[in-house]
Amino acid sequence: MSLDEYKRKRRFEETPEPAPKLEKKSQHRFVVQRHAATRLHYDFRLEMEGVLKSWAVPKGPSLDPADKRLAMQVEDHPVSYYDFEGTIPEGNYGGGTVMVWETGTWEPLSPEPVDGVYVPGTEKEAVAMLAKGDLKFRLKGKRLNGDFALIHIKARRSGSKGNEWLLIKKKDDYVVAGFDIDSYDTSVLTNRTMAQIAGDAKSAEWTSSPPASRGKVKATWLTDAIARVDLKRKKAAAESANETPKKKVKARRLAKTETKKE
Ligand code: MN
Repeated sequence: MSLDEYKRKRRFEETPEPAPKLEKKSQHRFVVQRHAATRLHYDFRLEMEGVLKSWAVPKGPSLDPADKRLAMQVEDHPVSYYDFEGTIPEGNYGGGTVMVWETGTWEPLSPEPVDGVYVPGTEKEAVAMLAKGDLKFRLKGKRLNGDFALIHIKARRSGSKGNEWLLIKKKDDYVVAGFDIDSYDTSVLTNRTMAQIAGDAKSAEWTSSPPASRGKVKATWLTDAIARVDLKRKKAAAESANETPKKKVKARRLAKTETKKE
């Protein structure tokens, strides 16, 4: 296993994402991250062989077996990506907000059913199933539970990268017909919405006043931050402008009183 591709795609002095580090042991956790990059998608990751095996799923996982979700396999991620939530600055690989949409544990299932049902399998079997392009597993999470399969689609078109898989829910007690992924719109870690995560990240970056030497990439959000401060000033100015009529009335009353006095 290698995190070379993960490392090559990122500038760690700019992105808050975790460093590429291989773990010796795997704890069979899984994570689903909602990622508002150029295109909104969900990243499905299984902890295995000291890394997170990763797939970008445009429509996200489903609990409905009728939904065969396209899942593009991407580079392995470090295990510490498991609880990464925040904003990857614009101009960086995968720039955009990341939410931890689901976490839990997974276990490999047997490659073949035993008496008609899939039973827990071994890590070795999982590695072999992954290599073969037909990985069966069981999830234990907060929002996703039950048996799933990841099936590699054989590259037929020339020019196909060969990284296309299907993520499919198997029939069991956890099926939800017509599953709507948008029925869950908050982080399982922090309970925040995408907007709240994005807002927090931007204000955190703004208040930490990064050095000016961070260059071009940072310029966009810096401009945004300045624009927001300007907007606040304008609002404040508008509010004081609203006060003016009252003051004028008061002034006029005072003027009248003075006239009476005369
Ligand atoms: Mn992603």
